[in-house]
Amino acid sequence: MPDRQIYLLSPRELSPETIAVAFAKTSRSPESFREIAAGLTEEKSAQFHEKWVVGYGHASVAEHAVLHIAFENVSRLAIESIESNRLASYTEKSTRYQKWGTDNFFVPTELDGHPLRDEFIATCRLLFRTYNGSLDPARTLVLKRAQRRENESDEAMDRRLRSQYVDVCRFLLPAASLANVGMTANARVLENVIRKMLSHELAEVREIGEQVKDVAKSEVPTLVKYADAAPYLMETMRDLSLTSSFPSDREREGVVEDWCELVRYDKDGENRVLAAALYRFGEMPFEDALMHVRSLPDAMRADLVESLLGKLGEHDIPLRELEYAIYTFDLVMDQGAYAEFKRHRMMTQTPQMLTTRLGYATPRLITEAGFGSEYEAAMKAAAETYEKLYQFNPRVAQYVVPNGYYRRVLAQFNLREAYHLCQLRGASNAHFSIRKIAHRIHDEIARVHPALTKFMLLPKETWQDVEEKYFVK
Ligand SMILES: Cc1cc2nc3c(=O)[nH]c(=O)nc-3n(C[C@H](O)[C@H](O)[C@H](O)COP(=O)(O)OP(=O)(O)OC[C@H]3O[C@@H](n4cnc5c(N)ncnc54)[C@H](O)[C@@H]3O)c2cc1C
Repeated sequence: MPDRQIYLLSPRELSPETIAVAFAKTSRSPESFREIAAGLTEEKSAQFHEKWVVGYGHASVAEHAVLHIAFENVSRLAIESIESNRLASYTEKSTRYQKWGTDNFFVPTELDGHPLRDEFIATCRLLFRTYNGSLDPARTLVLKRAQRRENESDEAMDRRLRSQYVDVCRFLLPAASLANVGMTANARVLENVIRKMLSHELAEVREIGEQVKDVAKSEVPTLVKYADAAPYLMETMRDLSLTSSFPSDREREGVVEDWCELVRYDKDGENRVLAAALYRFGEMPFEDALMHVRSLPDAMRADLVESLLGKLGEHDIPLRELEYAIYTFDLVMDQGAYAEFKRHRMMTQTPQMLTTRLGYATPRLITEAGFGSEYEAAMKAAAETYEKLYQFNPRVAQYVVPNGYYRRVLAQFNLREAYHLCQLRGASNAHFSIRKIAHRIHDEIARVHPALTKFMLLPKETWQDVEEKYFVK
């Protein structure tokens, strides 16, 4: 019996395209990966990709070529496009742990030579001035209310408590705020990223797409060579934008009746999850497992639930069979919360454009620090500029919308992802905006599927507690 071999193909020695070919060739070659790699050159690898990936569409080969791309000083609006690619990994400058300087915002090129450009800049400056002005009063109040630890220096105390005041001041930062983000993605994802970016409605995103293509070409020249703007994407988005407003719904536009609606779920979802768990370890057809679960007396059903989830620890991921229960939520959340929510990749998310028309949240600390009227004035100024910009270009108008304004997002996810989302974002160290969403999502799912949600590990706090403690009504 040949010896088991496990080793790395090191990116220090081989280019990403060569690594991808070395793996791809194992499909037809009896040689070891080392031997295959030793026989490759960058030129031979390029020829292979040209023939198989590009020519025959064996696109998954490109997944073995991985790049790390650094984006600096891109708007947080553009970051939404970058991070909308679910099969990549990201880390972004945090609005919770860092502060923004007064000129850290992007001016859209669409406004070059336009009369609204000056107003856009003036409104962003006002928002940043107000943001900077709010830091001190909010900080003073947080420090006044906190207990100093033994031998704690001013600096250490500030570091420990910084997120508490930065968390509320961030509501003022507009989507034009500049940030850095690091992305790790394979060449197949990148090709799609570039295609989507080059087809985007915003000039900034298209420009970033060109730059991504340029830098990616230096490492994976063949695999992104044909990544171009996609007429399908551009034309479909244009056509749908024109048809998405219809008179019968006007009355409900801009009105938030409920900020967290569970609009669809499978009434039999719990049974389906339990049946799938039995199916996995049995030999019966799925329908038989489902009939069996439906017929179980309550006590036996409870035992089955206990077997599936009872031993779940804090760092465990529940079995995949939880994915058979699916929920669709229509959510309204402030943009700061959405920036965190969008990072959950095991979901289908459909956000609407940023707007000021759904109103904004006011953090309690801002008013208690005596900064409420400045906050309100800045938020109102943003809404006025937004409306003017909207007449020119609704996409561009999004840049001026601050984090505190509400936004709609449709999200569909399964119970396994619900466990992850609710536990991670409902934890006491999560930002209070997303904590509120996580608790409410938990409550809505628990209402319809109580047996399978009772093992979620959440703090005692409720969404109403969060609302009361952190927001002004
Ligand atoms: C305390 C805290 C601080 C944070 N600070 C920052 C910050 O400063 N900057 C920042 O950008 N983000 C920050 N985040 C966000 C964080 O990095 C995640 O992007 C976010 O929480 C989404 O969660 P996720 O990736 O675990 O889950 P999802 O994308 O919802 O995925 C669910 C689960 O699927 C699995 N999974 C999904 N994709 C992958 C993958 N590619 N590889 C391996 N497993 C995967 C994991 O098990 C994951 O938990 C912070 C989060 C927390 C909780």
